[in-house]
Amino acid sequence: MAPAAAQAILVVGGGISGLTAAIEAAEAGHEVYLVEKNPYLGGHVAQFYQYFPKLCPPSCGLEINFRRIKNLPRLHVMTMAEVARIEGEDGSWQVTIDQSPRYVNGKCTSCGKCTDACTLEIDNPFNCGMDRIKAAYLPHDMAFPQQFVLDPALVKSDEAQKVKEACPYDAIELEMKRKKIELKVASVVWATGWKPYDMAKLETYGAGKYPNVINNVMMERLASRQGPTQGKIQRPSDGRAPRDVAFVQCAGSRDENHLAYCSSVCCMAAMKQAMYVRAQIPDARITIFFIDIRAMDRLDSFYQELKRDEKIRFFKGKVAKIDEEGSTNNLVLRVEDTNDATLHELKMDLVVLATGMQPNTYDDPVPAKSVEYDDHGFISPPDGKPGIYPTGCTRTPGNVSDAAQDGTGAALKAIQSVVRR
Ligand SMILES: Cc1cc2nc3c(=O)[nH]c(=O)nc-3n(C[C@H](O)[C@H](O)[C@H](O)COP(=O)(O)OP(=O)(O)OC[C@H]3O[C@@H](n4cnc5c(N)ncnc54)[C@H](O)[C@@H]3O)c2cc1C
Repeated sequence: MAPAAAQAILVVGGGISGLTAAIEAAEAGHEVYLVEKNPYLGGHVAQFYQYFPKLCPPSCGLEINFRRIKNLPRLHVMTMAEVARIEGEDGSWQVTIDQSPRYVNGKCTSCGKCTDACTLEIDNPFNCGMDRIKAAYLPHDMAFPQQFVLDPALVKSDEAQKVKEACPYDAIELEMKRKKIELKVASVVWATGWKPYDMAKLETYGAGKYPNVINNVMMERLASRQGPTQGKIQRPSDGRAPRDVAFVQCAGSRDENHLAYCSSVCCMAAMKQAMYVRAQIPDARITIFFIDIRAMDRLDSFYQELKRDEKIRFFKGKVAKIDEEGSTNNLVLRVEDTNDATLHELKMDLVVLATGMQPNTYDDPVPAKSVEYDDHGFISPPDGKPGIYPTGCTRTPGNVSDAAQDGTGAALKAIQSVVRR
């Protein structure tokens, strides 16, 4: 890779917001470096079965962006990479990138012969660890770049050589090393996005202890045809199609002990997922437990449509506790109906927790001193001050359309820094 021009822009995080920022800046004629930690671009959007409000597959939106990247020689993508250090100021930053080895080079045609030759298995991070995959793998069907990855455990194992020899294209390089890349750039956009709030911290809900209590990202993977159950929505404990499904909203959100804020998308995500269940299991009954439903502006019509479905019940009340019922792995939810202050115990087959979005910068901050954060870990630069520009869920929780528009705004800020230089 050529050394970066001092007028270049660095974008960190290749989710929808960072992708948009990088593409928009490159299309405006700038040299852009896009650094992504995963072996593929797309962030969480790549994991979703369908997008609200239109319920189309996320692969369409991502495909358009990947096609734009292919026509942009000025946009340099580095996957499996992270920023180790940033020093300098707006207009002049020195950056060190740390890139992990993929052990597969650009000759890979995704033929899958390495997977066939491999017996070692690892937890599948793309499916939230709900299944296992071979340690020589394509991260997911629509992965961009379409290039396999070898897990370090495989490279250290006795079968590494056999897997290398199975590749007809000489694409496997077991001796590939971790790389340090030095860049000089004029401007930095930070787009490292979010992670689901750790549900193991929600002890009263039995998350991590009861197999049929899952979070909303796991539900996306359960519904997806490339997911751990090939798209069949079923209980993790016994593979049975659930009849009574609970969506517990604000699971750890708007709660001073966990995330004090609203992530703004969880109500819409739950309603979308209720539709996944209803489409697949016609006799399933859904209960959505909520404090208040946040479906703003044009998204309100989605909510109104769901309210017309007699198998979907909106229950105003915060779930206090979830217990597992003996050997059935069914769940008993204790909840107060806030409309009439009555206490209820309701039995469910499957519970989906709406764990909110926590910024990755909460425990993986920007390695630069000048960056300011709010109390929750979102980057919060003083208004109008140039510096490192946050975008998407690094700046504030929001939906895909918000994150993409924010990316365009961040590209403009970054370009202004280049021009001011
Ligand atoms: C359950 C659920 C369902 C949702 N469904 C919808 C929907 O249907 N429609 C909709 O509009 N919105 C939906 N959303 C919201 C949507 O997920 C966000 O709007 C979107 O992911 C924001 O994109 P982003 O680029 O800011 O962050 P992300 O998608 O999190 O992307 C961030 C990227 O940065 C990378 N990264 C992280 N750390 C580093 C690092 N240190 N260095 C380099 N790279 C790094 C990550 O690997 C990732 O690729 C949903 C949210 C949830 C919780």
